Amino acid sequence: MTRRAYDAVIVGARVAGAATGLALAAEGARVLILDRAPEIGDTLSTHALMRPGVELLARWGLLERLMGAGTPLVRQAQFHYGAERVTVPVRPGPLAEGLIAPRRWLLDRIILDAAVAAGAELALGSDVEGCLRGADGRVAGISLARPDGRNREIRAGLVIGADGRASRIAAAVGAELLATSPHRAATVYGYFPGIENRGYRLYFGDGVSAGALPTNDGLHCVFATCPSAAYGRHFAADTRRGMAAILAGFDPGIAESVQAAPAERLRRFPGAPGHLRARTGRGWALAGDAAFFKDPATAHGITDALMDAHALSRAVTRDGRPDAYGRARHAQSVPLFAVTQRIASFDWGFDALKALHETLSACMKSESAAVDAGSAAASRQPEPRRAATANDHADPRQTMEPCDA
Ligand SMILES: Cc1cc2nc3c(=O)[nH]c(=O)nc-3n(C[C@H](O)[C@H](O)[C@H](O)COP(=O)(O)OP(=O)(O)OC[C@H]3O[C@@H](n4cnc5c(N)ncnc54)[C@H](O)[C@@H]3O)c2cc1C
Repeated sequence: MTRRAYDAVIVGARVAGAATGLALAAEGARVLILDRAPEIGDTLSTHALMRPGVELLARWGLLERLMGAGTPLVRQAQFHYGAERVTVPVRPGPLAEGLIAPRRWLLDRIILDAAVAAGAELALGSDVEGCLRGADGRVAGISLARPDGRNREIRAGLVIGADGRASRIAAAVGAELLATSPHRAATVYGYFPGIENRGYRLYFGDGVSAGALPTNDGLHCVFATCPSAAYGRHFAADTRRGMAAILAGFDPGIAESVQAAPAERLRRFPGAPGHLRARTGRGWALAGDAAFFKDPATAHGITDALMDAHALSRAVTRDGRPDAYGRARHAQSVPLFAVTQRIASFDWGFDALKALHETLSACMKSESAAVDAGSAAASRQPEPRRAATANDHADPRQTMEPCDA
């Protein structure tokens, strides 16, 4: 990268921004990570990690720290389709014995600390207002809002928007919207003691689903979901009772734990439409939810953010080609978006849902292979914006519903 004030300015210091900062700084890039939040604590998200994400954390030397902080290992996933239970053992991977579901106040902070230790500069409490452009129109940095009302400008070779699903950077650079998903599911969740670690437990029924994920401090993250349109019917009157009622139909033991625990604040997510945006342009790149937001139904956003960090940092520092990152990750995101959208629709019977889970598993196997192979195969896919007919997966409009833009 050329020497500027910074090689990269990253907007957003959570999982996508922190991991991208870590991966870039570890390769010697001069990196500044900004976040408008004064602290990186908890956030609205459950936190099941999938294999490619866990393998990357292990590769960066962070899995041990997460385990050392008491994050339980997950060695199996149980899928309950009505009365039928399918148990899938989690086979040890090249670097990780199993999966994990660490709390976000732990995961994001550990990644961010590692980024700073690798040499990244960090400025919390920094609200990024927009992007600077050079005379040729190329993005050349960002402008910060300051408490005294004056702007501060920071120049960088690459501006990375890791600023979440309502990304201001995506808007400022005019990132093309490649696909949207109309389906929305609502999620409520909380943390409960007294539940045995039997791995990830996922329950599916008629118009509802639920699950339990073992996490830190001897707690399980227990969640219940339904189509957004049914949120009021299930949860409006009494969220905890609504959640317990759904769980009682699946696992009375977990339902009892939910009812018996001391009252705690339950988190509510009413659902939001998904999007898939172009990930790169002249002087900018997007990572994490800023690029690709999908329903939590496939629990893949954190894993995607980690894979973005890995692929973007490699494309920038080894090949000098952020666009290769855009092509590689887009090709992986299109099938994942399609399967997530189908699962989040709740419009399936159990056989169809099992087939969707098999498709999801195949997506993850190919992601793991790409992580292991440095994304080399996927980066040979054609550029999505120019390849309407060249490759089925490269053109999102062949598998996604068209967007309005
Ligand atoms: C209910 C729910 C459950 C979920 N469950 C799972 C799950 O089980 N597994 C999973 O993998 N994923 C899950 N996800 C998805 C996951 O939470 C996201 O994919 C993940 O948080 C994306 O991380 P990110 O770093 O891209 O963005 P974010 O976590 O949104 O972080 C963006 C950061 O950018 C900062 N920022 C924004 N704008 C600015 C600005 N203008 N200036 C400076 N800073 C700015 C914000 O303060 C924030 O810190 C779930 C999501 C929800 C809503």
